[in-house]
Amino acid sequence: MQRCGPAPVAGTPLAFAPVLAGLMQDDFQLALPYALRRLRSYPGEGEVVTLTTAGATRAAYPQITARIDRLAHALRRLGVTPGERVGTFAWNSQRHFECYFAIPCSGAVLHTLNIRLHPDHLAYVINHAQDRVIFVDDTLAPRLAAIADRLPSVMRYVVMGETPTDLPNAIGYEELLADSPETPFDYPEIPERQAAALCYTTGTTGEPKGVLYSHRAIVLHSSSLLMTDAIGLQASDRAVLVVPMFHVNGWGWPHAAALNAMTLLLPGPHVQPEPLAKLIEQERASVIGCVPTIYADLLRYADEHHPDLSSLRFGVCGGSAMPPALAQALHDRHGLRLLHAWGMTETSPMGAVSRAHPDPVSPKQGKAVPFVELRITDEGGGELPWDGQTPGELEARGPWVASAYYEDPSPDGFNDGWLRTGDVAHIDPAGFVQLTDRTKDVIKSGGEWISSVELENLLMAHPAVREAAVIAMPDERFGERPLAAVVLTSPASAEELREHLRPHVASFWLPERFAFVDSLPKTSVGKFDKRALRALREAGDLGAGSER
Ligand code: AMP
Repeated sequence: MQRCGPAPVAGTPLAFAPVLAGLMQDDFQLALPYALRRLRSYPGEGEVVTLTTAGATRAAYPQITARIDRLAHALRRLGVTPGERVGTFAWNSQRHFECYFAIPCSGAVLHTLNIRLHPDHLAYVINHAQDRVIFVDDTLAPRLAAIADRLPSVMRYVVMGETPTDLPNAIGYEELLADSPETPFDYPEIPERQAAALCYTTGTTGEPKGVLYSHRAIVLHSSSLLMTDAIGLQASDRAVLVVPMFHVNGWGWPHAAALNAMTLLLPGPHVQPEPLAKLIEQERASVIGCVPTIYADLLRYADEHHPDLSSLRFGVCGGSAMPPALAQALHDRHGLRLLHAWGMTETSPMGAVSRAHPDPVSPKQGKAVPFVELRITDEGGGELPWDGQTPGELEARGPWVASAYYEDPSPDGFNDGWLRTGDVAHIDPAGFVQLTDRTKDVIKSGGEWISSVELENLLMAHPAVREAAVIAMPDERFGERPLAAVVLTSPASAEELREHLRPHVASFWLPERFAFVDSLPKTSVGKFDKRALRALREAGDLGAGSER
């Protein structure tokens, strides 16, 4: 009998009323005002450093908590009431960090807006959330100004920066703070189940869906980031947060920083490899968090310019599959160890981390972090064994996993209390999860599944391949066959790439078709956009350069 995942949720509702209540302070609310109190009491030596075009700005935590108080006063003056949504449209910066706390701690809901959304999607999410106020970086304001007449719920725009904007009812952030009293803000008692933040999924299929995080979920998630068996962020860390703060709570690192007062190094719009490498060198960064495409850029830069990355303890790599060849090259050539992690908007995001895997460049996403439960299911929703082979849809539950979408019934997203992730994975007997696909990206050839992710990882291990994305092509005989779209750094033929794959995969996995392209479409958060790639193929725009 193979070992399976955790016991399924019982069909009958759990009885939450205890037979004999424990005598602990169970009414202590796990809410963000606590995290803010902690940061105020234990500010340590930590600071928030922001890269701006004029150079780095820095502020120690006592200065920042005082500014958060002023911002909370200002929100009250603006008429924001508890439960109302307040948007941010911003790069990673100290001001964005201040919004992360002032908005939820004053009882409102922080709605982080993805700055790369198409204007129609942006208008959709702002209107769906009914944002009352939006905090916007001056450099990004024109994008909001272009749709402002379609945003009836927004009563004020608060502009972060000096450049004048065309936004109606705009007020400057610093002006707003200057008009606030210096007295500490009297934060309300916030029940831990109150909503604290809202983030919409990137909507690669259908309309974006809102994930509404409770205070409790955020506090528990951020405390788990400090566990050594999870990410293990420490008070002494100097953490470069490249992952956008508009995406899934900035992986929870700003909240974790409130708990341990570690230093946050925020690159603002300077997320290109050169400024990032300089930030690491100059600030002696100890941890970095970003998606694989940024690590790939960093690797190319480091190979050429040899920056000193020796201060980094490790880099957290998530958001899409970590190509083992990339992890190996960063480790061997630059001494940087990557820590592979899996998560999604609906899981706050941290769900699994590969901390304990003996192979540091394993493609496995890792084990579920404490308090998150993972299982795999078949098409009927039945649980599958943890044998390291049988693929199924990955499902998750836990205190920082979504139980529903905001103002959107979407029952399809859940199975008996578990979140259906839409990821296809297998789990080995030790509990290590390995994603093989998204359910919508998996290639079904002659009734068998081909993992696009595995083919991509293998292709990206070829020295001539910079990027590779594999999608399904309709096929009369087999139903679907894989098509590999490849960006080359030096000449290589389809035959050579097939030969490179041959020893590693079953022969029916070998793609007959390759499309050699100059670049691959990416989503707003830097992942390969397979929907766009499929559209290009359908429009015949991948044809040029294809080879059978
Ligand atoms: P998002 O909600 O935009 O953060 O996207 C979440 C999705 O990104 C997951 O459901 C996965 O498909 C993908 N993803 C996240 N982390 C990883 C990872 N380490 N490896 C492979 N895919 C990942």
